Amino acid sequence: MIRKLLRRVFRRTASTTVPEPALVPVAQHGITRERISPAANKVCTTLQDAGFKAYVVGGAVRDLIAGIVPKDYDVATDATPEEVRGLFRRSRIIGRRFKIVHVMSGPETIEVSTFRARQDADSHETDEHGRILRDNVFGSQEEDAGRRDFTVNALYYDPVSETVLDYHHGVADLQQKTLRMIGDPRVRYREDPVRMLRAVRLGAKLGLSIDPAARHPIREMASLLENVPPARLFDEMLKLLLSGHAVNCLKQLREEGLHHGLLPLLDVILEQPLGERFVWLALENTDHRVRQGKPVSPGFLFATLLWHEVLANWAARRAEGEHAHPALFAAMDEVLGSQAEKLAITRRIAGDIKEIWSLQPRFERRVGKAPFRLLEQPRFRAAWDFLLLRAQSGEVGLDLPAWWDRFAHGGHDERENLLKEDAGGGSASTPRRRRRKSGSREENGREVETAPAE
Ligand code: ATP
Ligand code: MG
Repeated sequence: MIRKLLRRVFRRTASTTVPEPALVPVAQHGITRERISPAANKVCTTLQDAGFKAYVVGGAVRDLIAGIVPKDYDVATDATPEEVRGLFRRSRIIGRRFKIVHVMSGPETIEVSTFRARQDADSHETDEHGRILRDNVFGSQEEDAGRRDFTVNALYYDPVSETVLDYHHGVADLQQKTLRMIGDPRVRYREDPVRMLRAVRLGAKLGLSIDPAARHPIREMASLLENVPPARLFDEMLKLLLSGHAVNCLKQLREEGLHHGLLPLLDVILEQPLGERFVWLALENTDHRVRQGKPVSPGFLFATLLWHEVLANWAARRAEGEHAHPALFAAMDEVLGSQAEKLAITRRIAGDIKEIWSLQPRFERRVGKAPFRLLEQPRFRAAWDFLLLRAQSGEVGLDLPAWWDRFAHGGHDERENLLKEDAGGGSASTPRRRRRKSGSREENGREVETAPAE
């Protein structure tokens, strides 16, 4: 009798081995069939009709219960990738080590994965710090639930019965606004340190507080992030910065002690004295755009985050007597290079970043043909948005972006007038000197503030 009771208690607390999932009815979780994407619904029903298990899983279920529109849908099934491929004409198998299937349906792509087993660090290939290097063994649905990171991410929604299968009390955690790790947080962070960043990001995105057991070890285990491959860190940082909650995420990262010495980028963002206002403005701006469903360019974002580093490096080089133009390019390369070791910024994004930076000094030349040539640059608009942020943060005068706004949108006569207005003015590297008459400044300020940052 006592042994039975102990077993029951033990089973509830050892949350990696919950054998029977709770079946949560629609009245409790609120996800009716119509709320999920038609493609996800179709993929699940087709697989079930063919005799397989198939559920919407992971972030989409979590987001729907939390009242957030999911950005994409994942389906988990007991069918093998080849079996899935055989059922959908428009589908393809991707990945080499662990195959998943992309099923295209209308404009959507659904990622279909076969249930996977959890790999534990004792018996599987790890690096010398215990990071799991492989995650590629098929398993049961229960095992698939146990290998996921947080309880709220281990929910399986069946659109046919409108039931959620809940292996780790994720629905209750979500409703109680708690982000809880499945299993022992220290073990799970060691297996994959990126989970520390995921905890912060998901907590901020969903308004969940990280359960103390998962929160406390972060500070002491933060250095494990150093061993994560740079490309993976870049992906995760990008997700974090484009989550629509970047400001909160970064504040939280600072609170958890995750910012110091781990990623040069985080040191730059969170500890720079000079560009602090600029960086927070840029992040607020990004969050705002993401929440409005507007596109955000990663190049633009990283360009803002690192700009003051470039400015400092550039100034130091000029003080040593280097010419302005080559000094800027050398500064850009050095700043990007210092990130590259830890954070693999893709070549394409690095190209975008440099373009935005290198156009900045050209805004200061407001005479002759130069302004017309700058207008023709394909990245003029992005570079102007960047200039606007510089002005809003107080680095340059607000009259500079206002002048360019009028120049860009003005007709022939207005442009000629603007050029005359500025004739005689050379460099605007100290543009505060060159503000126009007091009356028009206010007007310019207003104009700048209401200009949409497309
Ligand atoms: P979002 O899509 O909002 O970024 P997500 O939780 O859906 O968040 P994905 O990267 O899409 O994140 O992962 C899908 C699912 O895969 C997660 O919900 C989780 O169950 C599982 N997962 C992702 N990353 C990990 C990880 N590092 N460790 C364990 N499980 C993970
Ligand atoms: Mg997802």
